[in-house]
Amino acid sequence: MARGRRIYEGKAKVLYEGPEPGTLIQYFKDDATAFNAQKHAVITGKGVLNNRISEFIMMRLQEVGIPTHFIRRLNMREQLIREVEIVPVEVVVRNVAAGSFAKRFNQPEGTPLPRSIVEYYYKSDELGDPLITEEHITAFNWASPPELDDMFNLALRINDYLSGLFMGAGMKLVDFKVEFGRLYTPEDVRIVLADEISPDSCRLWDIKTNDSMDKDRFRKDLGGLREAYQEVARRLGILQEMGPAEVTSLTEASGDSANDDDSKTA
Ligand code: UDP
Repeated sequence: MARGRRIYEGKAKVLYEGPEPGTLIQYFKDDATAFNAQKHAVITGKGVLNNRISEFIMMRLQEVGIPTHFIRRLNMREQLIREVEIVPVEVVVRNVAAGSFAKRFNQPEGTPLPRSIVEYYYKSDELGDPLITEEHITAFNWASPPELDDMFNLALRINDYLSGLFMGAGMKLVDFKVEFGRLYTPEDVRIVLADEISPDSCRLWDIKTNDSMDKDRFRKDLGGLREAYQEVARRLGILQEMGPAEVTSLTEASGDSANDDDSKTA
């Protein structure tokens, strides 16, 4: 499928105009960043795995009635999505203390929380994504009160569903971040899940060993990030669906970049 004009380049993905109005192509890069992009590396295979894992999760969520921007995966690194207006708020749901939360409240990583906690962060690289409250979101008109209600309820539904899904595959969903967007149709505007859900945006711990199977392997220099993401894909039954060329691409530095011609159609 022909990609249109590049309209946005983020840390791990690129967005292009899609084939029809109202659609975009989301391209998954191999770049890994942390600490507001102060730390950067290229991890061969990460983009291909995240494209597959995010596709799988978006499809499962759609099946249980969560509206998303996802239409379909196009090839190893690209998916077709609906164009939405991104709400500049990162919604984080936590089940277990980890990362910035563990630091903020001086709790050992791994402390179970008395209940799932929803937090909001303002999406701003310049400000380092500050923690915000509902008051900030509505006062600055980043989202209306009904939109915020939708985001909160959807985030908790996503947490319930994904906690069970990962548990069934031997992984604990410690926390995750989601983004939402406004989908404009001739009839109405509604809030849908956007961006991606992958081990870049979740903390997943092996149920038996508590080993990190997510981007913390990069943040904490533990190594084995690609292997961990591949294991997540295997446990979800995704790896088994991948073709030989796709599996080979996970370990071969292909020099692939978002600028390449799209020759890797699955
Ligand atoms: N997260 C993310 N993007 C961000 C910040 C956080 O995807 O810009 C995810 C992160 O992977 C984790 C959860 O949100 O699953 C909570 O992250 P935390 O606030 O603990 O921040 P971190 O420790 O990652 O800096």
